[in-house]
Amino acid sequence: MDKPTRLLHAGRHPERYHGAVNVPVFRASTILHSSIAAMEASSHTPFEGVRYGRFGTPTTFALEEAVAALEGGTHCVATSSGLAAITGTLMALLQAGDHLLMTDSAYAPTRNFCDHVLARLGIETTYYDPCLGAGIAALIRPETRLIFTESPGSLTFEVQDLPAITAAAHAAGALVAIDNTWGVFHFQPFTKGVDISIQAATKYIVGHADAMLGTITTADKALWHRIKSSAAAFGHSAGTEEMYLGLRGLRTLPVRLAQHGATALELTRWLESRPEVARVLYPPLPSDPGHAVWARDFSGGCGLFGVILHPVGKAAIDAMLDGYQHFKLGYSWGGFESLVIPTTGGAIRRTATPWAPEGPSLRFHAGLESAADLRADLEQGFVRLAAAQ
Ligand SMILES: *Cc1c(COP(=O)(O)O)cnc(C)c1O
Repeated sequence: MDKPTRLLHAGRHPERYHGAVNVPVFRASTILHSSIAAMEASSHTPFEGVRYGRFGTPTTFALEEAVAALEGGTHCVATSSGLAAITGTLMALLQAGDHLLMTDSAYAPTRNFCDHVLARLGIETTYYDPCLGAGIAALIRPETRLIFTESPGSLTFEVQDLPAITAAAHAAGALVAIDNTWGVFHFQPFTKGVDISIQAATKYIVGHADAMLGTITTADKALWHRIKSSAAAFGHSAGTEEMYLGLRGLRTLPVRLAQHGATALELTRWLESRPEVARVLYPPLPSDPGHAVWARDFSGGCGLFGVILHPVGKAAIDAMLDGYQHFKLGYSWGGFESLVIPTTGGAIRRTATPWAPEGPSLRFHAGLESAADLRADLEQGFVRLAAAQ
């Protein structure tokens, strides 16, 4: 079966639910046990079967099964947000005295967690150049337990060479995790040697800007058990309604993503030709520095890209952004609407590599509006930019 077909079926078991097409929302904390013997038996395998709401209900297991299929893994842990999936992974795999290699292009709250929580616990983080590929080997120490990657990077869109990084990590006995939110359907982490793949399911999996949800997936049951045990110890779990929305979003992910990607490609090609634009950050563009690795490792793109403008004053940028009709001002991405945020002024923090854009930078999400409407919106924005200069 092709992947979109598989994703229509993954995690569903209509025969268990009177033929209902979708897995029902199970609202449960208490699960009743039929006898003391059954209660005792379930406590020996706390993560198998339905035992207590926090450990998972049939809705949870359906989502975990479906996301494992999406990622090409075998086991998954659902969490209350993408950030909880990231911190849940870090806390499961690291302890005092351990060393973490973290990409310099990480999602800002990931960096914040390393600098403020892991540091307090005696776990040292070294940030590395996202583009160093096999050169990561020189940074691995005997106490390095985990290499954390995100590809393309948040806001700056560097594509990482995962096969090279995972080869170096495994030669040294370290694990590799990826924040695979951008690559959601088009990057298959486990075929590239990745051990743990994280989704901010809040973005494209939920797909409608109406729920917070995260997932941690592995292709190794023992590793999953380690992560699940730690996540359970911290009390991680995901909301029932949110998981239902994640499952529902997943069914249409391939078609939505095809549209987001086609529109983003059209818009970025046009933006590249504009005199106001210094550079467009979108790996599917042949001009992008990460294009070759992207073309080798990804089967497609999505709606999220960056734009660096030639130097221009803040008032002009504000006039451009304030007047957009379709590109709304808002954090997050992956929903049906187009969004934009400015990424200048401290939004991008670097410690291992310089980040020196030619001028102000922006991040756009191409939604499901028509590409023609979105292009007209951008065009009008440039008119306001010129008028305000
Ligand atoms: C949004 C995002 C997250 C965090 O997800 P939440 O569900 O908002 O906590 C993590 N990584 C990336 C790349 C993101 O864009």
